[in-house]
Order: sequence, then C-alpha cells, then structure tokens
Amino acid sequence: MSVWLFALLALFWPFSLSMAAGVHQHGVAQLDMVVEPPLVAIGLSSPLANLIGFEHRPANAAEQQAWHQLQSDLRQVSQLFALPTDADCSLSQVNLHLPFAGTPAASHEHHHDEHSKHQDAHAHTDLMAEYQFLCANTDALRHLELPLLQRFPAIEQLQIQLITPSGQHSRTLHAGETRLSLP
Ligand SMILES: [Zn+2]
Repeated sequence: MSVWLFALLALFWPFSLSMAAGVHQHGVAQLDMVVEPPLVAIGLSSPLANLIGFEHRPANAAEQQAWHQLQSDLRQVSQLFALPTDADCSLSQVNLHLPFAGTPAASHEHHHDEHSKHQDAHAHTDLMAEYQFLCANTDALRHLELPLLQRFPAIEQLQIQLITPSGQHSRTLHAGETRLSLP
C-alpha cells in the first residue's frame, strides 16, 4: 500500500483518531487535507458547540432550526472551502457524519473527562464532514481559502494536517485567518 493511499484511508477516520488523542476542546476544530492528484480530500472535525452553540439533541424549534441550517450549510461547500480556480476542481463527494441520527442511543456522544466534576451526564458531541474533489490541475493548489472560519466564528483555532506530494505538514489557523498556504 502506498503511503498516499494509507494517508487517504487514515483521513476517513479522523474522528476516531481525535478520540484517541482525547481531543474535544471547545473553540478548537481539526481539518485534514490530503492531496493525491487528481484527488483532494478534506475532512473537518469539530465539537458541535463550535458550529451551533450546543451539543445536545435539538430540544426546541430554535435549536431544530439551527441544526437543519447547519446541515444545509455544511453542504454549501463554497461557503467552507474555496480551492483556486486554476486548479479546476469539482466536488465529487460529500459525507456528513451527523450525531442525533435515528434513536437517541445512536448519537455519538462521549465524555472527555469521565472522572471530572463534569461527570454528571454532560455529554459532548462531535461532527465530522468529509469532502472529496477531483482537480484537473493540482499544481495550482497553492492555497486554500477557508470561509468556514468566518461562518463559524466560535472556531478560535483550526488545527490542520496536510498531506501533499511534498510531504506531511501541520498548520494552525486562528479566528480571522482564512487563507491557508499549501506547501
Ligand atoms: Zn463539548
């Protein structure tokens, strides 16, 4: 298995990787990006609180509205990521891993500090969204615009893992920064 294929596969379990690392910090979200010409895969993983301000199953009309709006927004890819036009990319796949699907037991909740004073049934919920693009000219991928940091101002810090033909790189963007240079 090539290192790139392995990386692509690993991308599809960032949630479990995050779980393993114990990452669920409000204000912090993770973005994984793999460039394997002609494919570009982007995974966004975030505490739900960063996206809609709460992490419980929507309990009233206003929360239902926010939850449905979020799902709609996460499918408006241009409002989240903008790849350079020269790269000639087209979205080929979107996968949203949503909590609260089906029965309450199916929601993905975890306690990130079982033994703390927050143990009293204060569940946390993450959301993960995956996007796959096909790009005719990946050489033109010099940067990635991230309007998602304007759409979701509660994300104070975006931790980024990049795997490109030039290797593996880590970056951090903070609120207000929306342009990521790609190595
Ligand atoms: Zn939480």
